[in-house]
Amino acid sequence: MSTAPLPTGPAPVGHWTTGAVVELERIGDRLVRLRLEVADRIDHLPGQHYVLRLRAADGYTAQRSYSVASAPGDPLLELMVECLPGGEVSGHLHDVAEVGDVFELRGPIGGWFTWAGEATALCVVGGTGVVPVVSMLRHARTHQLADRLRVVAVGRTLAELPYAAELLEAGAFVALTRENLGDRVAAPPYPEEVAPLAEGVERAYVCGSVGFASFATRLLGEVGVRADTIRVEQFGATG
Ligand SMILES: Cc1cc2nc3c(=O)[nH]c(=O)nc-3n(C[C@H](O)[C@H](O)[C@H](O)COP(=O)(O)OP(=O)(O)OC[C@H]3O[C@@H](n4cnc5c(N)ncnc54)[C@H](O)[C@@H]3O)c2cc1C
Repeated sequence: MSTAPLPTGPAPVGHWTTGAVVELERIGDRLVRLRLEVADRIDHLPGQHYVLRLRAADGYTAQRSYSVASAPGDPLLELMVECLPGGEVSGHLHDVAEVGDVFELRGPIGGWFTWAGEATALCVVGGTGVVPVVSMLRHARTHQLADRLRVVAVGRTLAELPYAAELLEAGAFVALTRENLGDRVAAPPYPEEVAPLAEGVERAYVCGSVGFASFATRLLGEVGVRADTIRVEQFGATG
């Protein structure tokens, strides 16, 4: 439990800075968890992201957005990256990056997809779309706000779902589409599974691939969540 005050006001906006990799963990075949020490770090709100820029010796640069998994009070910035086939930045972070590397970073960014406990919320997230919600869950745990945050997390298998153990421990409803989980047969979440979690929610968050976001938005509509309360963050080529 924390007695630190809850963040209030508009979401903070950060500038370009640098982050040094302090911890790096490769998880399974495709995930890498990075913990960075960020120079002049500005506290983020749960749900915000950073832009990470790679710079080659010849000056060529490539930059991509990555959501923050750490809670605002964490002294390090935690990112979880899925290595995509042929992925320029995710491939480098997964295959090449090591402790001691320093990356250019800009953040925190994003004033819309944030939650600091101000509303009772339902999150429906898939794949690496769970990352910003892990920050929200960690923040909720620290500030005893868990009753205001409900989470439906969707993955292909438990091994492929980032933070699966932490999500289950936090009470998230986990739906796996390619393997059974306990008595639950592999399938996307059904409206009747999500409906009880939608009762009384004031806001909803959807995060994942473009295809997942449209599935989750439709699902929320089917269980009675008003479209104007749904905040969507899409990852992907068109996100
Ligand atoms: C706000 C925001 C937050 C994000 N947070 C995270 C995060 O926490 N963790 C994370 O792993 N990713 C996250 N992403 C996605 C990330 O920014 C990159 O798109 C992803 O890492 C791919 O970049 P790349 O350079 O490796 O692939 P590229 O070299 O750009 O693309 C390689 C191939 O993959 C396709 N592709 C590109 N992006 C995606 C994607 N996201 N899903 C499926 N196919 C794709 C391309 O069309 C291409 O065929 C986030 C995106 C946004 C917009």
